[in-house]
Amino acid sequence: MTESDCLFCKIVAGEIPADIVFENDDVIAFRDVNPQAPTHVLIVPRRHIPTINDLEESDARTVGNLYLAAKEVAADEGFAASGYRVVMNCNAAAGQTVFHIHLHLLGGRILGWPPG
Ligand code: AMP
Repeated sequence: MTESDCLFCKIVAGEIPADIVFENDDVIAFRDVNPQAPTHVLIVPRRHIPTINDLEESDARTVGNLYLAAKEVAADEGFAASGYRVVMNCNAAAGQTVFHIHLHLLGGRILGWPPG
């Protein structure tokens, strides 16, 4: 998948609608269309990075910003203290289907471990 036909690049560009809950210069967060928990938010960099395997040292700040956004959204959603999960899938065996890195932020219910 190239940048030009990347679903999340289109959401970042405003070409596809999304329920955006947080954004700054580097990352945006929007609700997953197929939520797996009462709150299921995806946090993505504005810049196209296909998978964790493509990360470079220069992306370290952006990766940190994904987690800082997760912290903000968890606080806004009201489960920062009770607990939540952030997870990023990498490639087919982990179930990655959109090849533009994204943190899943899941909260609002008890989350089992280990995940499937
Ligand atoms: P992953 O399987 O880790 O790549 O996660 C991709 C996620 O994107 C899935 O949880 C999908 O439900 C979600 N998704 C797919 N299309 C959209 C969309 N247009 N808006 C919001 N979430 C989406």
